[in-house]
Amino acid sequence: MLLYATLQCNFRTIMWANYHTHSSFCDGKGEPANHVQRAQENKMVSLGFSSHAPLPFACNWCMKNENLHRYLQLIENLRHNTCNITLHKGLEIDYIPDVISPLDYKDQLDYTIGSIHFVDSFPDGKRWEIDGPHASFLDGFETIFNNSIEDTIARYFELTREMIVKACPDIVGHLDKIKIQNIDGKLFSEEDAWYRDEVYQTLEAIRQSGAIIEVNTRGLYHKKISTTYPSPWILERIHQKNIPITISSDAHHPDDLINQFEQTAEQLMAIGFTKISILKEGKWQPVDFTTHGIID
Ligand SMILES: [Zn+2]
Ligand SMILES: [Zn+2]
Repeated sequence: MLLYATLQCNFRTIMWANYHTHSSFCDGKGEPANHVQRAQENKMVSLGFSSHAPLPFACNWCMKNENLHRYLQLIENLRHNTCNITLHKGLEIDYIPDVISPLDYKDQLDYTIGSIHFVDSFPDGKRWEIDGPHASFLDGFETIFNNSIEDTIARYFELTREMIVKACPDIVGHLDKIKIQNIDGKLFSEEDAWYRDEVYQTLEAIRQSGAIIEVNTRGLYHKKISTTYPSPWILERIHQKNIPITISSDAHHPDDLINQFEQTAEQLMAIGFTKISILKEGKWQPVDFTTHGIID
């Protein structure tokens, strides 16, 4: 009896949260209700929906503008009919100067993720996607940046910093996503001083803004890269600078809601992180975590 009482006193709930998820409203699989069901099976404490925000030009992976109201209403309805997990209305919003920014949708949402997927345009006006197929990356790399990897990377991080200063989101999405194109390190080395300088400048802008950096596991389980976004050496600098983080999977399927979370938490703990941020009662709050989840 005494043992049982002690266990009860020491018991603390351990569960995950994920704020970066995509459903059939954009390029993900599954209805939001499927995500909620899977999240409950995974004993998650908090789930954020973050479909790609509508863009004012043709885009086959974004939500259609006419579906935005239904998306927000659906999450609202799910929230009222779901127990044991808090649900949040979010969007992953591009930053394209004078076209779209996280500020555009902020008022309708519980939180925003700001991401750079487009860097400048081809001469015919078509926007250049930096995380699409490698052949299209190389096309823009040559046409827009004259095959200069330093100029390309500098522009990518410059846009990230501009977003932070002008239209700061709650969460900075996949900070170094452009490395997905650096197959076998053929384009650059992350040890290059110029690359590190771009990253460090960007981290300083984020530190000053108070935004959260997501530790995104998608590259790991998608087998596209062997590390999280951001890379481990960047995580070390984030820890030194005391910038808040979340763990997210950028799930495009309900099965991936907590994919690689345990391994990533272990890596973060080895670096020295003790807290991750969760959205609770309308505020981002740092909470303790272990390899099994947050301790709330
Ligand atoms: Zn993204
Ligand atoms: Zn995403």
